[in-house]
Amino acid sequence: MLDLRHHCGNPDGTAGQIGEDHMLVQQILKSKSDDGVVTIAPGSTLAQAAETLSSRKIGAIIVSPDGKQVSGILSERDIVRELGRRGPSCMADSVDEIMTANIVSCSRTESSDEVLGKMTAGRFRHMPVMEGGEMVGLISIGDVVKAQISQLSMEKEALEGMIKGF
Ligand code: AMP
Repeated sequence: MLDLRHHCGNPDGTAGQIGEDHMLVQQILKSKSDDGVVTIAPGSTLAQAAETLSSRKIGAIIVSPDGKQVSGILSERDIVRELGRRGPSCMADSVDEIMTANIVSCSRTESSDEVLGKMTAGRFRHMPVMEGGEMVGLISIGDVVKAQISQLSMEKEALEGMIKGF
């Protein structure tokens, strides 16, 4: 494995080695705009959740009483599934009845590959980041893919530099 220590260091100071996954969840969180996680209070309706998903241009919302504890997650897929099953009357239902309460989460120190593995195995695209029982961020599969593409591009530039003798 090629050591790109002098050519392609990671933001946390670790060496970048081609083929190794050094990208951590905390680096992905840092690269996101720091707007916090969009949440909705338990007891809100599906219509309110859909309005927030639409206005904030996001695909999933965390159901939380205080922005820190996670009661569940409601994705656009959950709403579409209920609409397909029962029609528009479901929009008056509480998010608590439709959300996924059994959440898979990750920590800041997990690698992007571990997160992608969990998302692929569970067939979902969003994951809250937890620390000490409290939510400290949320990452989507889009955030992970964007971060990995940026790392690959950095490695490519470092390799080209090595080949050209820079
Ligand atoms: P998504 O692909 O994230 O839009 O979600 C697909 C399904 O997985 C929906 O039923 C969500 O409620 C559920 N879901 C989303 N994220 C998670 C997660 N981190 N843990 C468990 N279930 C989730």
